[in-house]
Amino acid sequence: MQHSYTLLAPAKINLYLEIIGDRPDGFHELVMILQSISLCDRIKLHPNGREQFRIFCQHEQVPSDQTNLAYKAAQLMRQQFPQHFANYGGVDITIEKNIPVAAGLAGGSANAAAVLVGIDLIWKLGLTHHELQTLAAQLGSDVPFCLSGGTAIATGRGEKLGSIQPLENFWLVLAKYNNLAVSTAWAYQTYRQQFYDTYTRSRQGIDQRTKQVHSGPLVSAIIHKENAKIGQLLHNDLEKVVLPEYPNVAQLRETMQRMGGLGTMMSGSGPSVFTLCESFEQAKQIQKSVFEAIPDANLGIWIAQLVNTGISIQS
Ligand code: ATP
Repeated sequence: MQHSYTLLAPAKINLYLEIIGDRPDGFHELVMILQSISLCDRIKLHPNGREQFRIFCQHEQVPSDQTNLAYKAAQLMRQQFPQHFANYGGVDITIEKNIPVAAGLAGGSANAAAVLVGIDLIWKLGLTHHELQTLAAQLGSDVPFCLSGGTAIATGRGEKLGSIQPLENFWLVLAKYNNLAVSTAWAYQTYRQQFYDTYTRSRQGIDQRTKQVHSGPLVSAIIHKENAKIGQLLHNDLEKVVLPEYPNVAQLRETMQRMGGLGTMMSGSGPSVFTLCESFEQAKQIQKSVFEAIPDANLGIWIAQLVNTGISIQS
């Protein structure tokens, strides 16, 4: 009798996102500080005894076919370990979607990371963390981070990770218009069109700039636990293209910033916006004030905590 597993897949926010330049492979060279949060999807993996994987998800914006990132992760495992697929068979993957979709919170990537971990367990592969990370990088730039979680500096396309000491005891107010989605590809393409003259293009130039950012002020503030500075040093280059295109996101960001907290920023390619807080009470107060200031039924506002885990097993 094969085991079923339920995994928790946390969303991420970007505390820092800087676009350095173009890479030969067509992706952007980035420097990011990524952070896991307690808002998470629940992924159930159940051996189905068939020669196929099946995706079950109730969320209308999430595909249940082969385009689902969770499905792609399962297919990658099948390609890499055909003998184990033949021995153990396929898996039914049920996604309980709590992370807002196309929100800059890496929901799809988190689901893919969970499937790698789950199939590793079901097929008793015993993969090392490094082996799982290598598979994750083939699925998408954010997947390696979603696997390990916590607080990390990400460079390259976002797949090269260096850990920083975890940020503890922070809370977060996270807001997103439910009827609004921003395509990550659109955000990066638009940035390239508008800011191409700022790009570093040579390999040497990229290495040089990446080193400078590594020792940046935000990393130092995190290491020294300077909370006020952490809030002031949040940064996201993609705000420069997303906020002018989506005035209601810009207005949401302004409103949240006015309500207090340590600092406010858009996450990833948006359109979700977050405010870092030092306590649950402060987060609760800001959530209430933003709801009062923007009485829009389409606005979702969550409270979450910064967490130090990537994919974890619930049962
Ligand atoms: P990122 O921050 O990594 O760019 P995101 O949070 O902006 O990601 P996702 O929630 O991952 O975006 O969804 C992006 C698109 O991918 C959606 O339009 C959705 O249709 C598709 N998608 C495919 N698989 C999934 C999945 N498992 N969960 C969510 N979206 C998925």
